[in-house]
Amino acid sequence: MTFFPAPYWQGLRVLCALAPRGRPPPPLFSRFYSSKEVRGAFPTATSSPDNGKTVSPLPSGANSGKTGERKGGGKHHPSVSHPLFSAGAAKSRSRKLGQDQGPASVFLEDSVLLPAKPLNSEEWEKMKDTWKTQKNFENWMMKKMIKNNSPLDVAKSLLAWVAKRNSSELGYSLLIHYLTLCVHQKQTAEVIDLYEILRARYRCLESGAYTLLIRGLSHSDHWRESLLLLEKVKKIIIPSKTNYGDCIEGALLHQEMDLAWDLYQEMLGYSLTPSWSTLRLFFETGKGSNDGQLKDKLLDILVYLRDHQMYPEESFVQSVKTWFESIPGERWKGQFTTVQKSGRCSACGKNLESLHLSPEEYDFLKEKIMKDVIEGSDQFRKTSPEELEKYKDFVKRHPPFDIVIDGLNVANMKSKVRQSLTLLNVVTQLAQKNLKLLVLGRKHMLYGTASWRKQEMEAVQKNAACFFTENTSEDDPFLLYATLHSGNHCKFVTQDLLRDHKACLPDALTRRLFFKWQQGHQLAFSSYSAGNRIVFQPVLSYDTLVQTTGDSWHIPYDENLVERYSYEVPTKWLCLCREH
Ligand SMILES: [Zn+2]
Repeated sequence: MTFFPAPYWQGLRVLCALAPRGRPPPPLFSRFYSSKEVRGAFPTATSSPDNGKTVSPLPSGANSGKTGERKGGGKHHPSVSHPLFSAGAAKSRSRKLGQDQGPASVFLEDSVLLPAKPLNSEEWEKMKDTWKTQKNFENWMMKKMIKNNSPLDVAKSLLAWVAKRNSSELGYSLLIHYLTLCVHQKQTAEVIDLYEILRARYRCLESGAYTLLIRGLSHSDHWRESLLLLEKVKKIIIPSKTNYGDCIEGALLHQEMDLAWDLYQEMLGYSLTPSWSTLRLFFETGKGSNDGQLKDKLLDILVYLRDHQMYPEESFVQSVKTWFESIPGERWKGQFTTVQKSGRCSACGKNLESLHLSPEEYDFLKEKIMKDVIEGSDQFRKTSPEELEKYKDFVKRHPPFDIVIDGLNVANMKSKVRQSLTLLNVVTQLAQKNLKLLVLGRKHMLYGTASWRKQEMEAVQKNAACFFTENTSEDDPFLLYATLHSGNHCKFVTQDLLRDHKACLPDALTRRLFFKWQQGHQLAFSSYSAGNRIVFQPVLSYDTLVQTTGDSWHIPYDENLVERYSYEVPTKWLCLCREH
């Protein structure tokens, strides 16, 4: 196998040296910049070292809007973000743990054989011939390399071949793909070279490229550049939590505590939820410190978790424990433990906060939910005012219910069992306990189909009061209305987390009360098989959230590799007590 002579291709560093800014680039290099693709999307800067400050407005279409951009940013970092309460969050976390090891073989799932060593031009030509059905061979190949985490020199040999070919150009997207690979492999020198190249030629990039550069630079001596890039992102969109996380990490790694806290405050100001790794780093950096202000800030993070009902992951609580135990002169002792049914901490014996809502709290919450979720939200726009009035009358005409059932949600619990049969089983078993039931359903359930048998639906209606909404209506507000209207004793059955409604609530206190109420009133099945007895998850008596008495902290957390469903709360706790 022949390799390129070393001086020809030693990497982008060499190329950079060949092309100082302000001078016309050599022929090889010109291909970096003449790509139509790049011209189409970004205004090319006239080469002057000082023009970096002026930012040309992006042409319409280059910025796909806040949500789209965030998704774009996330695409390059599949490991970073999932909403904290999302179903399957734990599952995705555990999947991630096995993901980074990479296969030993260079065969991919779709049986593309990636080279394990750098190829020369002839070999790349041959490879391209083999895959001639691929329209953009080099981009396709580079994406495979990213997926497979191929060695950098192999990727470079691809770039060299593309750059050498007369017919092709080293396009913007190929460069960005290569940057992705460099960032994944933490090849800082290469990232810096790419940054120089991009900076020399483009006044601004799209947010995905900024996200990569910020990540790539934040660990390096050039970490301050990542702050400048963050400013550039701000001119296009709201930076992502990943962008902030990377900049904060850069600041913390370089002992710039005040800067890190400012960035943290700024991201909270944008309502971004910091990632666990960002929060963990604050605690790790604060270890052993005597600084009272720093201590207050770290405790504020814990209060933030409480206010937002966030459950930390295991590595985070480990850092919290280490930090508490390192505070000079305070004698904190941390233990990982569980809480007894009664609400007593198994480690220190203290009672945790009760889940019971006082009558005042209940009334406050009921009023807020009625106003903000039921009357005020978009949810009910999917229903007609007539239907809403009809429903309210219906609820008022009935005596208070004991259990309100989300019929569609419950019926779909077992995919292999007929929906009407599942619903009937659940309703019959609850009716045998003399509970007053309300089943909320949709009109299509009454049409008599293979999934919804007429006889079984008639039996449901004999055992429970039923209200069938239009097929397009949203179920949840109906569910909340009937449950709250029936009183503090009434519970509701759904496997759904009602996250959307929580998001409608105006302030931290209301969100907190809603979640407390939800935990105490929502019934979810822990096991169900057709014909068998239903088992509900036990309704807890104590509140699962970060809490303190001053001399103690109790922090619930998710264990690694334990999959928690969205309607569940963690069972493991970090108990921290001050010894006297
Ligand atoms: Zn305890």
